[in-house]
Amino acid sequence: MSPYEQLKADITSCRRCQIQFDYEPRPIFFGNQTPAVMQISQAPSRRVHESGLPFNDQSGKTLREWYGIAEADFYRPDHFYMTSVGHCYPGRQSQGDKAPILECAKQFLQRELKIIEPQLYIIIGSYAARFLFGKECSLDNLIFHDQTLCDKQAYVLPHPSPLNRRWLNEHPQFLKERMPIIADRIHQLINC
Ligand code: SF4
Repeated sequence: MSPYEQLKADITSCRRCQIQFDYEPRPIFFGNQTPAVMQISQAPSRRVHESGLPFNDQSGKTLREWYGIAEADFYRPDHFYMTSVGHCYPGRQSQGDKAPILECAKQFLQRELKIIEPQLYIIIGSYAARFLFGKECSLDNLIFHDQTLCDKQAYVLPHPSPLNRRWLNEHPQFLKERMPIIADRIHQLINC
């Protein structure tokens, strides 16, 4: 079995957090080993947990609008490898979902970063940005400046969740000026 096949098997069969959840863990990821873009986000939502498809929810709808691409192009495994800090839905708390399981990122995301070979990284939301760039980094600074991850070009996005509307309202230049640059780069890579 190749390292990539072993990684997929290890993630899919993981039930390490069963005791913390009151439901069966369902690790979610998607894509090929050599995608155009490796997209790293926070953790699956309840709807994604139920469907098994990353970003098959309102956040995904908004994200595809930001990218300016159709669902069919989003869910092409040679276009996007999609993963997250926590690979399983972490459950609810009073306001929104619980934080992703950080141990999961140490166990699997770090292996994915060694094995998956994208041309571009897209990092979505503060949990993923802090895990990859350090807690001391300013999220706004990461979002509005080009980044590098594993020696490749990387962009950081705010989370497209409806819970993040306030940040978007306070930073209108993100959708007006920054996102079109990022969307152009994605379109170049996936030829659509
Ligand atoms: S969150 Fe990660 S470590 Fe926990 S059960 Fe899911 S795949 Fe395993």
